[in-house]
Amino acid sequence: VTIGIARETAPGERRVAVTPETCKKLVTAGAKVRVERGLGDGAHFPDAAYAEAGAQLVDGSDDARAEADIALCVQPPGPDAIARLKRGAVLVGSLQPEADPARAEALRANDIVAFPLERLPRTTRAQAMDVLSSQAGMAGYKAVLIGAQLAPRFFPMLTTAAGTIRPSKVLVVGAGVAGLQAVATARRLGAQVECFDVRPETREQIESLGGKFLDLGVSAAGEGGYARQLTDEERAEQQRRLGEHLKGIDVIVCTAAVPGRPAPKIISAAMVAGMKPGSVIVDLAAETGGNCELTRPGETVDSNGVTIAGPLNLASSGALHASEMYARNVFNFVSLLLKDGALVFDWEDELLAKTVWPERPAS
Ligand code: NAD
Repeated sequence: VTIGIARETAPGERRVAVTPETCKKLVTAGAKVRVERGLGDGAHFPDAAYAEAGAQLVDGSDDARAEADIALCVQPPGPDAIARLKRGAVLVGSLQPEADPARAEALRANDIVAFPLERLPRTTRAQAMDVLSSQAGMAGYKAVLIGAQLAPRFFPMLTTAAGTIRPSKVLVVGAGVAGLQAVATARRLGAQVECFDVRPETREQIESLGGKFLDLGVSAAGEGGYARQLTDEERAEQQRRLGEHLKGIDVIVCTAAVPGRPAPKIISAAMVAGMKPGSVIVDLAAETGGNCELTRPGETVDSNGVTIAGPLNLASSGALHASEMYARNVFNFVSLLLKDGALVFDWEDELLAKTVWPERPAS
């Protein structure tokens, strides 16, 4: 098989779907790997490293991809680029086909066998391929660093000749993969960290990282380990208790999400108005609208002395390690498709059958 990887074209995207490390593994598995020159520039993987790993370097995105049996990407190519793929080719990446009707149509019209990795069932076996988790880890880490950078204070407690500095109080909203990494990172910087989630089983995870579980008296565990939407009464109770609590918080990192829906609005404008001047909110959920009512995706705004940052694609800001993890996820998934160097679809394997888009009719 031929595997093709073109440069990412989405604005600000620095990550790559194949690193020299995974390129070498694909070559060892019997694949021919074609990489567009400059692919790894943004993530600091030089062309020479790909060449050394056995890749064939080519000049344009079409040269890299047009003849490929399998094309790999981080963000999906646009409809025109999809139309230039080989008919029936496999496309693996964070494809979000439903997010753009033109893209979905292009995938269908060209018979592309699309594997949007965000559709992988979150089973134990799929963990090694789980790009949502690997990228959320980087995002949670970076969100805390942004919070520390924007805050006009130290995170740790200091005892100095100029007196004692009290540690910052950090609240992490949502204890999924990003939230737990945020808890761990803020702890390492010496802050006092609290975190809450609607899934009660997160208490133990938060505590094991040195955080304190903030109990807002609401539990909403849903299917498959994800959260369900809260009822109106549950939301009102969560809001009331939270509003009171936020008056003592210095930095909030928001990570709450419900799959396939806009982010839950958890921090209202009134709550922000009650916060201390100099407080900071970093809203990782900005990508899906934000957990804070005042978040503007992609911007940093000031509301009465409270700084609210809505960074987008934070994983890309840690492109080197984020790519290492993403590319290993992709390699592990592609391994399911390769048997003795040939492309094989084992539709009995639920990881393929549940991930492929559009869904295949049951045979
Ligand atoms: P996510 O990004 O969808 O959501 C982040 C967090 O927000 C979740 O913990 C969710 O419970 C929380 N949340 C939603 N609404 C909320 C609200 N109103 N208030 C407070 N918190 C709210 O989640 P994720 O990080 O992708 O993962 C969620 C769960 O799935 C985690 O338990 C994770 O460990 C689990 N998971 C399992 C596997 C696996 O077994 N293969 C892989 C990845 C994740």
